[in-house]
Amino acid sequence: MSDWAAFHYHDDRLFAESVSLAAIAEQFGTPCYVYSHAAITAAYQAFEQAFSGREHLICYAVKANSNLTILNLLARLGSGFDIVSGGELHRVLKAGGDPRKTVFSGVGKTREEMRDALEVNVLCFNIESEMELLALNDVAGEMGKVAPVSIRINPDVDANTHPYISTGLKENKFGVPAADAERIYQLARDLPSVRPVGLDCHIGSQLTELSPFIEATRRILDLQARLQSLHITIEHIDLGGGLGIRYDVESPPSRQDYVKALCTEMASTSARLIIEPGRSVVGNAGILLTRVQYLKHLPHRNFAIVDAAMNDLLRPALYQAYHAIQPVVKHEGETQIYQIVGPVCETGDFLGNERALALASNDLLAVMSSGAYGMSMSSNYNSRPRAAEVLVDGDSVRLIRARESIDELCALENIIV
Ligand SMILES: *Cc1c(COP(=O)(O)O)cnc(C)c1O
Repeated sequence: MSDWAAFHYHDDRLFAESVSLAAIAEQFGTPCYVYSHAAITAAYQAFEQAFSGREHLICYAVKANSNLTILNLLARLGSGFDIVSGGELHRVLKAGGDPRKTVFSGVGKTREEMRDALEVNVLCFNIESEMELLALNDVAGEMGKVAPVSIRINPDVDANTHPYISTGLKENKFGVPAADAERIYQLARDLPSVRPVGLDCHIGSQLTELSPFIEATRRILDLQARLQSLHITIEHIDLGGGLGIRYDVESPPSRQDYVKALCTEMASTSARLIIEPGRSVVGNAGILLTRVQYLKHLPHRNFAIVDAAMNDLLRPALYQAYHAIQPVVKHEGETQIYQIVGPVCETGDFLGNERALALASNDLLAVMSSGAYGMSMSSNYNSRPRAAEVLVDGDSVRLIRARESIDELCALENIIV
C-alpha cells in the first residue's frame, strides 16, 4: 500500500477504505481526523519486513500521533516506542506498550520523568547533554538502579529539510557534538548509576533523500569504533526517525530502500539497529475532514472559510507546509482559485494557498496526509474544542477520541473574586 491508497474515489465520492467520508462527516461531525487501520498496519509492516534477519527494533515516535488506539495497534504489531515526555510514557503504558521496548529522547527530561521511566525499566535513555547525564546518574542512584544510556550525537550533517525540523546541524540544540562524545562516554562509563549501552542520533524530519542518513550512519559507526578502542562496547545503534512522506511532488525513498540502506551501512557491526519513525508510519494514513462554511469572492482573492483551522492542523501556519486538499464529493461547477482558511483570528490561519476547486457552501474537503503532527500539535486557541478522531478498518468506523466539549475547555479554571 503506497501513499494515499487507503483514501480513494468511487464514483466521484472519496472513501477511507470501504467507508465514504461523507457518511463519516454525517455521523461524527467536522472537523474530524480520519485514520486508516490498513494504512498504518501496512506502513509498519513495510519497515518490519525490510529488516529481514537483522536484529532490530522499531520504536514508533509517539509525538507524531499519540492517540491511544493507534499506540495500541502499533504495540500489537510488535512496535516499540520513542517518547519525549512523561505524558508520552503514560500513554505508551496505558496503550499496552512495552516499556522495555521504549527509548526516552528529548533535551529537557525532568528528574520526575526520569524517575517514572526508571521505575518501569525503559530500554534506554537518549541523553542530550553532560548535565542531563549527571542528573540521571543522581536520580538512578537514589533509586538504587543503573540507568541504560545512549548519548545522542549531533553528527553535523545537513538534512536538507525545513529549518524548524532540521536537528543534526552543529547550531541545533539537540545532542552533543561528535568531538565531545568520547569524553562523555568515558564519564558515563565511570559514573556508578548509568551504563552506556547505545549510540543515538536523529538528524531531522521529512527527509526525502538517503544520503544524509547514510552520512550520519557512517559518522556514528566511526565513533563506535573509537569507543570500542576505549573498551566501551555498544549494544545498539539508534539512527532516529525522519524518513519523509509524499505531501505533494516529493519522492522520498521507500521504507524498504531506507531500511536496506541502513542495514548495508551497518553490515560490519552486530549491534542491534533501532529506528524511530513517526511521520512515515502515520502521516499518509490520516486525513482531516472539514466542511466549507462560507465562500468570499473578493476582487483580488477568493477565500473558502472552512470549519477546521490552524489550531486543528498547525503545519501550514508553522512550516508553510503543503497539504493536498481534495473534494469529498466531486461536482460540476466553475473551478476557481481559493485560499482555504479557518475561522481563527490570524492571517497565518490557512490550510492551503491557491487551490483550484469547484466549491459551494457546505461542501466537505479532505486535507490529505494529516495523520502525523496533526492532532498531536493541535491546541484550543480561540477556545476551539479539539476535533474528533475516528479509525476506519474495512467497513467499520470507530470513534477513538470524542470531540471536546466547550465545558471541558473551562474545566480547570476558577473565577476568583
Ligand atoms: C520527532 C522525532 C522522531 C520522529 O521523526 P519523524 O520525522 O516523524 O520520523 C524520532 N526521533 C526523535 C528523537 C524525534 O525527536
